[in-house]
Amino acid sequence: MNMTYDPQNIFARILRGEIPNKTVADTEHTLAFHDIAPHAPDHVLVIPKGAYVDFADFAARATAEELVDFHRTAARICEGYGAGYRVISNSGGHGGQEVPHYHLHLLAGRPLGPMLQR
Ligand code: 5GP
Repeated sequence: MNMTYDPQNIFARILRGEIPNKTVADTEHTLAFHDIAPHAPDHVLVIPKGAYVDFADFAARATAEELVDFHRTAARICEGYGAGYRVISNSGGHGGQEVPHYHLHLLAGRPLGPMLQR
């Protein structure tokens, strides 16, 4: 994957406060907010505050504190989805990643169907 981080990507602008968001959680290293075009009744994006392009970049370069804070923040939100949920992270062209700042999609609120179209 292209590991060059684009500081003008939309999530970087959200982190700088240039674009508003509907915040769900805001911790030292992590921000979670509602997706602007939800695919399910509950659709939350969880992003690290650091400049990471995708899952592999975050896993390789983040500090232990960032890794723990990010996953525990996401997990706390998931704990509220009593009927179940799905976590997705897209990367690169084949992964369908639109915003090149690492994020998890937390999806819930209805039966989500099969994981992928075959
Ligand atoms: P990706 O395709 O990169 O995995 O997902 C990017 C997600 O960001 C999409 O679900 C899209 O709806 C969401 N998104 C794009 N721009 C904005 C924005 O300005 N605000 C919010 N809250 N979500 C956005």
